[in-house]
Amino acid sequence: MEDLSLDMIGFVAGLLAENAGEWALHKFILHGLGRAPDSIWHYHWCDHHRLSRRHAMLDPGYQTSPLHWNTHGKEVLLLLAIALPHLPLLAVAPGYVAGVYCALVAYYLRHRRAHRDPEWARRYLPWHWEHHLGTNPEANFCTTWPGCDWLMGTWKRTGISPSPPPTDHRYP
Ligand SMILES: [Zn+2]
Ligand SMILES: [Zn+2]
Repeated sequence: MEDLSLDMIGFVAGLLAENAGEWALHKFILHGLGRAPDSIWHYHWCDHHRLSRRHAMLDPGYQTSPLHWNTHGKEVLLLLAIALPHLPLLAVAPGYVAGVYCALVAYYLRHRRAHRDPEWARRYLPWHWEHHLGTNPEANFCTTWPGCDWLMGTWKRTGISPSPPPTDHRYP
């Protein structure tokens, strides 16, 4: 019984840790480091944001399998790189690892659906819809649910931009 309670606490901690990871990785790595044109993370701007903006949330890379060298493929690779180092922790903190894994799968499925089905994204992932189509892409960094954005003050209703700004440096 005690083990079960610990596993439950671990599971919730895993969900929260993944949400914090989504926020930090998106804000500091993909947006921060990725702003430099020669960064390996630059694809987030020049591929994912640019295509999502151009196609009103659709990113064609998510229409096919992740076995392509585009945002979809790189995202799956990144998720595996996060998941694999957690494997050894299964023996000591199975609840925590299960929480992280469930959250990673939920992230992948929700993000992929958002870029295949814009109407679904507008209705069920409005924070991510605004992240791409809103007037301020430096907000709403969580994708699955906006927990860490609420906590850190980056959850913002930014309003939808009337048209893509093609000369804007943020959408090269
Ligand atoms: Zn972004
Ligand atoms: Zn996205």
